[in-house]
Amino acid sequence: MFAGHVGAALIVKRAAPGVGLGKLVAGALLLDTLLGVFVLAGLESVKVPDDFAALHFLRFDFPVSHGFLAAVSWSLIALAIVRKKWGNEAGNAVGLAVFSHWPLDAIEHEPELPLALGSPMVGLSLWHILPLAIALEAVIVAGGLVAYWPVGRGRRPLVAIAAGAIVLLTATQLFATGSPSLRVEAVSWIVTAPLLGLLFGWLDQERR
Ligand SMILES: [Zn+2]
Repeated sequence: MFAGHVGAALIVKRAAPGVGLGKLVAGALLLDTLLGVFVLAGLESVKVPDDFAALHFLRFDFPVSHGFLAAVSWSLIALAIVRKKWGNEAGNAVGLAVFSHWPLDAIEHEPELPLALGSPMVGLSLWHILPLAIALEAVIVAGGLVAYWPVGRGRRPLVAIAAGAIVLLTATQLFATGSPSLRVEAVSWIVTAPLLGLLFGWLDQERR
């Protein structure tokens, strides 16, 4: 999942209007940044399935970034760090945004998300009906924009355009046939959270 995480950040912003949207977007994508780091470090792995041209998705072995207990731990670590730097409201909201990643991924991935190390795997496999998965992400983003609109104090139309562009980018997965370079993928996962965090942080900034 990609766009849906941005949608979740928009929803969290409604509950914590005083917290910058950039922090929430970066938080909601944090587990994928960690995935990229751990893949490059050899701690986790990604495979291109033989039938990638038909499936359009990768297979993951990622218990450290995407296990349930791991996700809870990363959320608490983010909560503690952000609380210390920006206060309790920001810490709680970012912690929630980080955790929101896990249930959303669990809907789309095959059963490959462990609850704890060595536990049974969770995953509802919505990626097997990819158009439905993309539609779900579009709905989450649309709901996120509706939730965000009354509390947004920055360039709201540009926030909507950026979020819409991310939905379109996610939808290109429907046409992915060539097997991607996993190194390039890993680097793209690493940079996505900070870059989108900066973009949405800037767009959400209050204007005088
Ligand atoms: Zn993920």
